[in-house]
Amino acid sequence: MRPFIIAGNWKMNTTLSEAEALVREMCRDLEGNTLTHVQMVVCPPFISLHSVHEIIRDTEIALGAQNMNEHDAGAYTGEISAAMLRSAGCEYVIIGHSERRKYFHETDELVNVKIRKAVEHGLRPIVCVGELLEERESGATVEVVSRQVRGAFSGLGADHVRTCIIAYEPVWAIGTGRTATPEQAQEVHEVIRGLVRESAGDEIANQFVIQYGGSMKPENAGDLLNQPDVDGGLIGGASLKADSFLAIVQAAESIGRER
Ligand code: PEP
Repeated sequence: MRPFIIAGNWKMNTTLSEAEALVREMCRDLEGNTLTHVQMVVCPPFISLHSVHEIIRDTEIALGAQNMNEHDAGAYTGEISAAMLRSAGCEYVIIGHSERRKYFHETDELVNVKIRKAVEHGLRPIVCVGELLEERESGATVEVVSRQVRGAFSGLGADHVRTCIIAYEPVWAIGTGRTATPEQAQEVHEVIRGLVRESAGDEIANQFVIQYGGSMKPENAGDLLNQPDVDGGLIGGASLKADSFLAIVQAAESIGRER
């Protein structure tokens, strides 16, 4: 069975001391609970990665970054490389989040280059895809998501596809309080799994983790995570409070136990 992966994207929130306090609270709340069906990941801002890693070192929480540069090193002022992320303790990196596509003009081509660089350095990319509201309303969802997924995997061997995670994040559901219905999410997740099958075969497709993201919170997490092709969540707002993030993690854990 596929494990659930529940990742918190803290975005540009939390100072260093706030990030440390938040992750300490999560560790306290987790104490005594063994997670057997869920991998929990936190993605704080760059400046907090190392300190958060020191705190979660001996826990079940893994560390991820929110972005990375596609080059190895050099004159790219203000940028962070894959090797730097690894040295700070990261195992995961979010790539192609819709906010980066929108505000920083990241294209499918750039996303693909970043994914290749991430896997080359042993990072697991959490690749974000999803349609805009007008694309959903005009019936273009499957076309848009398929283009993004094919673009992400372009030139990647099956063994590299295996290490990726796709987060389906309908852009109209991110930070808006509007969530895709479980049926809408399942429909797109099934398409994504088909695309993974197309590029890497059955075995990898069956094990491949596809997260849902877009206003996931404790009240709707159970219904979304209960869908057969929804294998976790990428959580923004609700990951900034230890109790709501942990409630989503626990919802995934109980569904995992019942499967
Ligand atoms: C996100 O930014 O990836 C996200 C899903 O945000 P939110 O949960 O706040 O909608």
